[in-house]
Amino acid sequence: MKIGIPKEVQAGETRVALVPGLIPLLLKDRHEVLVEAGAGAGAYFSDTQYLQAGASLIEDVSALYEQVDIVFKVQPPQMHPATRLHEAEMVREGSSYTGFLSPLALMDVMETFAMRKITAFAMEFIPRLTRAQSMDALSSMATVAGYKAVLLATEHLGKMFPLLMTAAGTIRPATVLVLGAGVAGLQAIATAKRLGARVEAFDARPAVREQIQSLGATFIEMELSQDAETAGGYAREQTAEFLRREQEVIRARFPGVDVVISTAQVFGKRAPLLITNEMVRSLRPGSVIVDLAAEQGGNCELTRAGQTIEHEGVAIIGATNVSAMLPVDASVLYARNVVNLFRYLYPATGPQPDGTDELARGACVTRGGEIVHELLQPLIREEVSR
Ligand code: NAD
Repeated sequence: MKIGIPKEVQAGETRVALVPGLIPLLLKDRHEVLVEAGAGAGAYFSDTQYLQAGASLIEDVSALYEQVDIVFKVQPPQMHPATRLHEAEMVREGSSYTGFLSPLALMDVMETFAMRKITAFAMEFIPRLTRAQSMDALSSMATVAGYKAVLLATEHLGKMFPLLMTAAGTIRPATVLVLGAGVAGLQAIATAKRLGARVEAFDARPAVREQIQSLGATFIEMELSQDAETAGGYAREQTAEFLRREQEVIRARFPGVDVVISTAQVFGKRAPLLITNEMVRSLRPGSVIVDLAAEQGGNCELTRAGQTIEHEGVAIIGATNVSAMLPVDASVLYARNVVNLFRYLYPATGPQPDGTDELARGACVTRGGEIVHELLQPLIREEVSR
């Protein structure tokens, strides 16, 4: 197959969907790789590196889309600033597309894909199966974001993280509170510990207590429900009563905390509100909140997605697309996830997985002229009934 790697067009997107190091593997499987000139520049991968790895370079992005059988992208299709065409219209009819797609939010794009008989795979829909772990781009990006969140906090905090014993006296370690201990939260805990902070953490799923403790952090105790997790490994949405009790527990920790990293999310829903405006006042001036849930509505009432604001001396960082702040490793991990999925769907030898395959079916959004993903079916019906 001919695989195409266009340059990402979204403002601030630095990642690239394929890194040069993976090209020999695709060539060995007898595929061809076409890369738009400059596609890797944001992640410091030069055109020369792609050429040396065996890819062909192409200047004209429209020509790239016309030639390839499958496109690897990071961001969902959007208006292309140079061609003034929507990327979903640039993908060749009948070809295939793999990337983050935000399918629930971009039903119009999914409809365009279906109309144009594109077979589209959404990286955010990879099911949580053991054999799909090497394709799990959400976890890869959460790992990068959890690490970077701590570094963002250090930049805004007027204190150091570690305990220091100096001739001028002792500096006490910073205290970091991590809310939500999924992949991003656990990575934030590990990073803050490595920097020497005292770390406390909380999650609505009791299963993570041991993981938090094994990283050397303190689990904040609160009565938790044993069915806080779905069969798919995602947190369930908590009741208003639970959130009220949770806010009380968090509020009690706030006077002694320097940094809050919040990562709590429930798949497909608005992020739970854990930090109210009034709670922010109980943090000491100079404290920092990094709200990694900013794109999903934020865990803090005051978070502004994409902005850093200051409220009564507390910095509230609502950074979005945080993994793109570390484009090299984010691209390496993402590209491995995409290539692993591609080689599973289109193996060099042996049969391709059919429509009954849980992994292929779980990731596929459009195929054969239809929107096929079960999560999108209610949205199609809504459109029809309007
Ligand atoms: P996520 O990004 O969906 O959410 C972040 C965290 O927020 C979760 O840990 C969740 O429990 C927590 N949360 C939700 N509501 C909360 C609230 N009110 N208060 C506090 N915390 C709240 O999570 P994730 O990073 O995707 O990880 C979730 C779990 O799934 C982890 O155990 C992870 O190891 C597992 N996982 C498994 C696979 C697999 O089996 N292939 C893949 C990825 C993740």
